Amino acid sequence: MSEVEQTDVLIVGGGPVGLGLAADLGARGVRAILVEQGDGRIDHPRANTVNSRTMEFCRRWGIAEQVRESGAPPDFPPDIIYLTGLRGHELARIARPTHGGRAALPHTPERSQRCNQLWFDPILRGLVRSKDSVSLRYATRLEEFSQDADGVDAVVRDLASGDQRAIRARYLVAACGGASVVPRALGTRMEGMPVLSYHLNVFLRIERLWEHHRMGKAAFYIFVNEKGRDASLIELNGTDLWRLGLAFGTDRAARERVDVPAIISRLIGDDIPYEVISSLPWTCRSIVADRWSEGRVFLAGDAVHQHGPAGGFGMNTGMGDAVDLGWKLAAMVQGWGGEVLGESYQAERKPVAARNVAEATENMVEFVDTPDLRGIDDDSAAGAALRETVGAEIMRNKTKQFVSDGIALGYRYDASPVVLNDGSAPPPDTAMIYHQTSRPGSRAPHAFLADGRSTIDLFGRGFVLLCFGGASGAAIAAAAAARGVPFEVAAIDDDDIARLYERRLVLVRPDGHVAWRGDGAPADPLAIVDRLRGAA
Ligand SMILES: Cc1cc2nc3c(=O)[nH]c(=O)nc-3n(C[C@H](O)[C@H](O)[C@H](O)COP(=O)(O)OP(=O)(O)OC[C@H]3O[C@@H](n4cnc5c(N)ncnc54)[C@H](O)[C@@H]3O)c2cc1C
Repeated sequence: MSEVEQTDVLIVGGGPVGLGLAADLGARGVRAILVEQGDGRIDHPRANTVNSRTMEFCRRWGIAEQVRESGAPPDFPPDIIYLTGLRGHELARIARPTHGGRAALPHTPERSQRCNQLWFDPILRGLVRSKDSVSLRYATRLEEFSQDADGVDAVVRDLASGDQRAIRARYLVAACGGASVVPRALGTRMEGMPVLSYHLNVFLRIERLWEHHRMGKAAFYIFVNEKGRDASLIELNGTDLWRLGLAFGTDRAARERVDVPAIISRLIGDDIPYEVISSLPWTCRSIVADRWSEGRVFLAGDAVHQHGPAGGFGMNTGMGDAVDLGWKLAAMVQGWGGEVLGESYQAERKPVAARNVAEATENMVEFVDTPDLRGIDDDSAAGAALRETVGAEIMRNKTKQFVSDGIALGYRYDASPVVLNDGSAPPPDTAMIYHQTSRPGSRAPHAFLADGRSTIDLFGRGFVLLCFGGASGAAIAAAAAARGVPFEVAAIDDDDIARLYERRLVLVRPDGHVAWRGDGAPADPLAIVDRLRGAA
């Protein structure tokens, strides 16, 4: 084995979560090595929704424009149509007013985008490659690791040469997806339902499908038959790429027997040419890990939470893990953050994952209330009446699956040891609606400043103390300086933003979450700074 290579953070896994973490660490100048056993090629479309919070991270990293330009074209309707067939009957049409395009929303400058991992992962990869402090290694597998009080010893194998290499890192983050050596070695248990249902996704090329039917363009077509939900067809690039989703309930054998060409001709018609590019069998789970870290080893993304794609929360929840870890690891590596920062990772992120897994599972299971769908496609008055009833039920039950700004932006770190909860009542936590608040633990609110920037553009590097109405941040700034915490003061002279932020002093962490707020300088600013930097 070659000599031992030294780094600060070893990241295992080059999916979106590992790449997101590498980008965040790179932006903070932290030395990191990312090892990925694959070659970086993505041959099947998985996550499609980049939600508005992930878009805000992309904005901070300087890639939001690239993401907006890479997926579905801006004029392609983001709507969802439930129907009995492309040449059958429409049941419901769900609009997504907060998806796609550029116009800012009242609560965020970044709308959710449809940019599949086919394009999103390579954008992240390009970003990581631009970071001097990060080394990206494909065809490299982590095989073993062990840790002591000061670091982690890892053995990786270069899959091209077959050689083993030793790496010594101060921290290891396993963003290694569903099945890997790290969670197993830590003895992590996944809690919940290991099998909710079996699925098959088929990646298809169909040129200008909308010219062959009268339903119009839509991001999703969801087919309904007499047995319930039949299949889904998701548009990916605005021209010819689609993903067909087939579900088999708990009947795994049915997936082996399925006649895909017969299903395609039933759903889209047998006169429309298509090409199957690839197929991906996958299992829908509803699970969250019991332990997210052990000493200097952390788990993130699908390695600690997995659920169905209904709602598009999986990758986005993982990106939240990456951003939560990024500044904390940087703080510990740079010496201004204490060990409680590491402990706070699970306290902050596990409840968010549990919330999102529960919501996604409800989305997978819940459909319409009418138990008997016989006659749903009939050209009769009874068929039309049934479709009207079922359509109304779809609108009532399913809109929150597709319009979920509350899930994307409203998660909070209520139980965190590095947030100073002020005892105020939290706003409602609902899937659809996001309520901006400066309550500690929440994402700091967005509003446009006089110079055209968003308040969220102020955050990302160190801590930022927002001062309204002439309040002085000097005492907290002095405490932060005494502890070497990167810190800025931003005085904002705007009554609307002052009202939105609710207090005269609001201290925001590098990840854009509020850590503390008050109307005057705290009695013991050093104690507050120590608590927030994880050294109390
Ligand atoms: C059909 C489908 C649709 C989905 N749609 C959405 C959606 O719309 N929105 C959404 O947010 N999410 C969606 N998801 C979920 C999303 O794809 C995952 O949550 C996301 O890819 C997880 O990212 P990750 O980086 O944690 O893991 P992964 O993407 O699984 O990456 C882990 C990587 O680690 C590597 N690895 C593992 N072990 C080792 C090792 N020992 N050494 C080196 N490398 C290793 C693997 O090769 C892999 O590349 C969907 C998933 C599926 C299956």
